[in-house]
Amino acid sequence: MNDAHPYAAAVEGLLRDTAPYLSCDECFDRIDQYVEARAADPDHHDLRMEVHLAGCGACAEEAATLLELLAEPS
Ligand SMILES: [Zn+2]
Repeated sequence: MNDAHPYAAAVEGLLRDTAPYLSCDECFDRIDQYVEARAADPDHHDLRMEVHLAGCGACAEEAATLLELLAEPS
């Protein structure tokens, strides 16, 4: 949990792998992981997710909802 960016290198690799754009299906596959990473570390960035969320209101809303849920102390 306290490890610094355990998959930063993997993300960097992914950025070169394909164009930085995800389909909604791919976005939904990753959204839980992305939101959890964001909740744990506000400085976390996943460029492919961010590019998709910037252009896709539905997924952006989903991500915002999930982030709010995670931010709630339960
Ligand atoms: Zn989408």
